Amino acid sequence: MYDVVIIGAGVIGTFIARELSRYNLEIAIIDKENDVANGTTKANTAIIHAGYDAKSGTKMARFNVLGNEMFDEICNELDVEFKRTGSLVVAFNEDDMEKVKTLYQRGIRNGVKDMTIVGKNEIKDMEPNISDDIVGGIYALSCGIIDPWNLAIGLAENAVDNGVKLLLNTEVIDINKTEDYYTILADKQKLKAKYVINCAGLYADRINNMVASPSFIIKPRRGQYFVLDKDAGNLFNTVIFQCPSKFGKGVVVAPTVHGNVIIGPNAEDIGDRDGKHTTAEALDYVRKASLRTSSKIPFKKVITTFAGLRADTNIGDFIIEESKEAKGFIDVAGIKSPGLSSAPAIAKYVVKLVDKIAGGLEKNEKFNPIRKRVLRFSKLNSEEKKQIIRFDSKYGRIVCRCEQITEGEIVDCIRRKAGATTVDGVKKRVRPGSGRCQGGFCQVRVMEILARELGKDMSEILKDNIKSYILTGRTNKGEGRC
Ligand SMILES: Cc1cc2nc3c(=O)[nH]c(=O)nc-3n(C[C@H](O)[C@H](O)[C@H](O)COP(=O)(O)OP(=O)(O)OC[C@H]3O[C@@H](n4cnc5c(N)ncnc54)[C@H](O)[C@@H]3O)c2cc1C
Repeated sequence: MYDVVIIGAGVIGTFIARELSRYNLEIAIIDKENDVANGTTKANTAIIHAGYDAKSGTKMARFNVLGNEMFDEICNELDVEFKRTGSLVVAFNEDDMEKVKTLYQRGIRNGVKDMTIVGKNEIKDMEPNISDDIVGGIYALSCGIIDPWNLAIGLAENAVDNGVKLLLNTEVIDINKTEDYYTILADKQKLKAKYVINCAGLYADRINNMVASPSFIIKPRRGQYFVLDKDAGNLFNTVIFQCPSKFGKGVVVAPTVHGNVIIGPNAEDIGDRDGKHTTAEALDYVRKASLRTSSKIPFKKVITTFAGLRADTNIGDFIIEESKEAKGFIDVAGIKSPGLSSAPAIAKYVVKLVDKIAGGLEKNEKFNPIRKRVLRFSKLNSEEKKQIIRFDSKYGRIVCRCEQITEGEIVDCIRRKAGATTVDGVKKRVRPGSGRCQGGFCQVRVMEILARELGKDMSEILKDNIKSYILTGRTNKGEGRC
């Protein structure tokens, strides 16, 4: 019997798993997908918000501001790319300027530090490529950008190192409640747990409804994006928002921690929880809206587009509480934006809930907060490169030329405890396929390495989700490659 089973290995579930591993508990984190961070955590703007946007008094406002402050320490411990770039909300007219002032006041109420109202000249100094039409804005120093994939993967690896069991390809189909424990029926097995934490993102209402009456409904809200080549990476220094509307924070133009530019998202309420495809209309909207921020955005340098789904609800705030009808069952649901920014603070709060329900938790004296990410060959100097190649010749073979990723890095990310098993799993960890050619040259090599390392046939290698086969079989019966 587990003490705690966490359903969902997105950034929320993995944060909670790592935080709970500080205590002597038997913990499992399970996900229906074949990898960590395959849900909403995979596709978002990757911003650690300052915290002025959420309505004062909400959990969103409180956890955003608290969470933001925790990122330097956590990213140091887990070796995750994080940069405090600061953010701007820009105004194009006096009406917008009024909204900016309202945001500023809200930021003060929410406890955001280091915000200033700035004029056009100060903004132009910070962002020379911004539109001449802006009249002023708000600058928040604490806003940052992060790699959300490496964050969730780092959290999962560290949690596993500290004793947590990670069970992937494990879809929860039903949950039975008895007086003292829960039986979680997954497609392949039954798990027993004293406490269950529901971090199932877009499916959190369905998981809640397995043990209690429906109390909230998830309403997927899609956002679509462009990513620009690193050639355009120096265009902007900060995260630049336009004034928010009733649909959210509006179209953002921002640098990424890897040196690209991200542009988006829009906001569309859609019925489909799996509707992660992009559409020409929405991308066109994003393109036109962003050109208002800067007419210099070079759309010919777009290397990819993608869409993510926000787990919006009918409640309007994060839902983080023990179920009123199911003792020991905690919902962590409706974690839309700023969920990534709030995740560390949410995790600490959930641990307090578990501590209260369990009547006290005992510290795990062996907890080790440190995790090292896969070595970045391209960041080494030439002497270090020579040394590592002497140690392992796989670091002497570049597989992804756009991102300069070696076979050694790919093998390391597959052999790790919460290692990659798919082409996108490798991409999330070490980035082959994230550059200009988007895997056009390296995808087959990555598949070959995956097949060799996992002892599989090439035709069994998946791109991403379960059943996302890339090859259908051999075109000839000879010895040639697929
Ligand atoms: C367009 C967009 C932009 C955003 N931008 C930002 C931003 O810039 N900054 C910010 O702070 N936040 C942002 N967010 C919000 C942030 O991405 C989310 O709050 C966060 O990723 C939610 O993480 P999660 O772990 O709750 O959900 P998920 O990552 O979706 O994880 C839930 C997991 O549960 C699993 N699951 C579901 N059902 C089952 C089942 N039956 N059995 C087993 N497993 C199951 C899923 O497979 C999934 O892996 C954005 C969101 C979107 C969509």
